[in-house]
Amino acid sequence: MFGHHPRRPELQRLTATQRRRVVSRARARRIRCAGCGGRHFSVGDAMFAGFLFVDTDTDEYTIALTCTNPRCPAPRASVTLHAAEFLEPVA
Ligand SMILES: [Zn+2]
Repeated sequence: MFGHHPRRPELQRLTATQRRRVVSRARARRIRCAGCGGRHFSVGDAMFAGFLFVDTDTDEYTIALTCTNPRCPAPRASVTLHAAEFLEPVA
């Protein structure tokens, strides 16, 4: 399909509920944009990261964040969360 970039199979698209959880976790961790210091992000895809580093827990995911400031010079960020923090139902 013209203009369509095939998705990487290791990327996992999140549901609206999961994205809301990621936003609240990022807020709780006081994650700030490195480009502008902003605290508002839109949530992208998640990538399983538990196997990448020996000091990484085996259920960790890295989730892409994009700073929502339209004038941000470097809007890409990420947050690393455990699966239970955003994928599983919250008790
Ligand atoms: Zn920013």
